[in-house]
Amino acid sequence: MNKKKIIILSLLIIPIVIGCILIYILIPANNTKVEILINNEVYGTYSLYQDQTIIVENKEDRNVVEIKNGKVSVTESNCANQICVNASAISNDNPSTIICMPHHLVVQLK
Ligand SMILES: [Zn+2]
Repeated sequence: MNKKKIIILSLLIIPIVIGCILIYILIPANNTKVEILINNEVYGTYSLYQDQTIIVENKEDRNVVEIKNGKVSVTESNCANQICVNASAISNDNPSTIICMPHHLVVQLK
């Protein structure tokens, strides 16, 4: 293999390698979990990347937690203040916590 071929090959390979490294850095690892706590005890852990609706029932308390497109929100609740329903959805970009005080319910990312 002469020098010219090595240079051409290098020019082809280097961008591919850089591209692979960039993809690896830019795409976040999709292992984020959604954790639902009631009274500080884990009720359930769910993947943030699997769309699903979780109905959390604890005696007369009822919350509906929806995981959709990498975002989590409380879509329904029979609590008095509805703060959990009005809370903005949480996601990797907004990793906060949704709390339903009357139901002692916490939804957070892990
Ligand atoms: Zn609530």
